[in-house]
Amino acid sequence: MRIDVLTLFPGMIEPVVSESILGRARETEIAEIQVHDFRQYSEDKHRRVDDYPYGGGAGMVLRVEPVVKALRNLDADNSALRVLLSPQGIPYSQSRARTLAKNDWIIILCGHYEGFDERIRDYFDVEISIGDYVLTGGELAALVVIDSVVRLLPGALNNEQSAAEDSFTDGLLEYPHYTRPRVFEGRKVPDVLLSGDHARIASWRREQALKRTKERRPDLYEAYLKRRGGSD
Ligand code: SAM
Repeated sequence: MRIDVLTLFPGMIEPVVSESILGRARETEIAEIQVHDFRQYSEDKHRRVDDYPYGGGAGMVLRVEPVVKALRNLDADNSALRVLLSPQGIPYSQSRARTLAKNDWIIILCGHYEGFDERIRDYFDVEISIGDYVLTGGELAALVVIDSVVRLLPGALNNEQSAAEDSFTDGLLEYPHYTRPRVFEGRKVPDVLLSGDHARIASWRREQALKRTKERRPDLYEAYLKRRGGSD
């Protein structure tokens, strides 16, 4: 998969996508991640890409021309899925990450300043928010999207890190994990996990996932029951 990121701060993205699972996915060409400073598409001699808002008001606004120029330069045929990051977008979720991971190529725009010229929206396919809070810029949001998408690409995770049982994969939170020691300050590992009985362990884990989801995320639990067409 190819991912291009348009940002004013490549230095915020590059070090993160060079580390750990993302870095390995890049090295093994599972993900080709390219980070572009879209100031290079500014026609201003000072390379400015923002301007004052029409109608007045606080803050600067990202101009439409450098963004469109960057998009046309990267993707003249309009083949990539174009993702705009904004607190006004659709809420990001694991299922949205799965949908994005099916694309061969995505281009992500990180906004900055007070916001962007409204006409920029016309050049994007999807507008995503990573939560109901406002960040200074789209860089951290882009990293959230990239990380959650790349780990779903075949081969990005090794077996020990399999995404198959992660929280949200089947609409539930994941069961609890334990490792050594067996007892720590009186807190014991549940006996069933030491039993070697794989069927019992699987059924305990399932029960725990259901219990945990019901307690912590009743909204997810209700949706899960609804999908199964049943009750508790
Ligand atoms: N004034 C804008 C508003 O109220 O909708 C917020 C602008 S924010 C300071 C600057 C940029 O950060 C946005 O254009 C967007 O790219 C990014 N951003 C901020 N919060 C975000 C969020 N929750 N999800 C995704 N991107 C976000």
